[in-house]
Amino acid sequence: MEKNRCLICGFDGLEEPPYYEDYAGSNEICHCCGFEFGVDDYDCDEFNHDQLTDKEIVEKSHILWRKKWIEEGFKLFVPESFPDGMKNGDFLKPEEAAKQLKNVE
Ligand SMILES: [Zn+2]
Repeated sequence: MEKNRCLICGFDGLEEPPYYEDYAGSNEICHCCGFEFGVDDYDCDEFNHDQLTDKEIVEKSHILWRKKWIEEGFKLFVPESFPDGMKNGDFLKPEEAAKQLKNVE
């Protein structure tokens, strides 16, 4: 089965594409950064959604979540999904995170 890439952290192990047509979220939670597509974007209360398009809301929420994920030291949502060589405890190794982030920034 072909895997899909997370738009926030660059993890390429999503089972489904993050969004369908018209920015409808998949409701899948990224095992890496913990973002839930269709929930953590439209329900993100860190900015005012009024007068923004779905595209703008999605993009803005991704930027905020990515920033938070980086600031928290790349905490893994499901550490068991990652081989030991890629993580330090419950956190993705910085060099692995840098590799992933290259694909999304
Ligand atoms: Zn992610």
